Amino acid sequence: MRELILGLPVDQITYGDILTEVPKFLASNRKMSIISVNPQIALEAKKYPSVVDLIEKSTHRIPDGIGIVLVSKMTGGKIKERVAGFDLMVKLLEYADKTQKKCFFYGAKPEILKSTIKNIHKDYPNLIVAGSIDGYTKMTNHEIVTQMNAVQPDFVFVALGFPRQELWLAENMASVNGRVFQDVGGSFDVLSGHVKRAPEFFIKTHLEWLYRSLSNPTRIGRIVQLPIFAVKSLWWKMRNGGRD
Ligand code: UDP
Repeated sequence: MRELILGLPVDQITYGDILTEVPKFLASNRKMSIISVNPQIALEAKKYPSVVDLIEKSTHRIPDGIGIVLVSKMTGGKIKERVAGFDLMVKLLEYADKTQKKCFFYGAKPEILKSTIKNIHKDYPNLIVAGSIDGYTKMTNHEIVTQMNAVQPDFVFVALGFPRQELWLAENMASVNGRVFQDVGGSFDVLSGHVKRAPEFFIKTHLEWLYRSLSNPTRIGRIVQLPIFAVKSLWWKMRNGGRD
């Protein structure tokens, strides 16, 4: 089931729901596309019609932000919990490790990607790193897709930040012979050890967004996005109801 937040569909799903579905998609010939919807994306996606289209057509749209969960609760929605893109990626890596699946990593700065891969080899020794390309490569999309298709990855993680990763997936996912796709933002920065996850206190109190905004000057503007998102999405709900 899905509900609309500022007109964008978000699924009423949990980590458990997604993890149950992964093996089914891997066993079928259908692609699974997991796209994060957070307040920033909800506010800005309309500027990019192909991103809206990608979100609408994706098999899984995760409520990746406490703002999304709160707006859902305040308007009688049924989204139960935040599904954080980073935490979900970690669960997918654990699954890939347990089942020896092939993963492709696309995005982040070259040195960040290098340490990400190093840590993945160390922490998930049975996972197959089928390939990796940094997010600043001069390769064309055609070359990137060809490199992915040469290894037919089970999982493709795209870490180019919003909206680049969504635009890339919208344009190229159909040509990639892979099974499970996820846009993972700055997750490689965390996996590489270069960026620290928020302390437990901030995660538990759902204030991770505040910690990340305060600890990174380029993200400071995002603090004001949250109240704007709350007001806009409540106003949108009042005018449109939960209509799908
Ligand atoms: N990134 C990239 N290529 C680009 C721009 C960004 O690979 O052309 C990477 C960047 O190095 C970082 C990730 O995308 O690892 C996420 O960037 P950002 O923090 O801006 O996005 P967010 O986490 O807020 O989605």
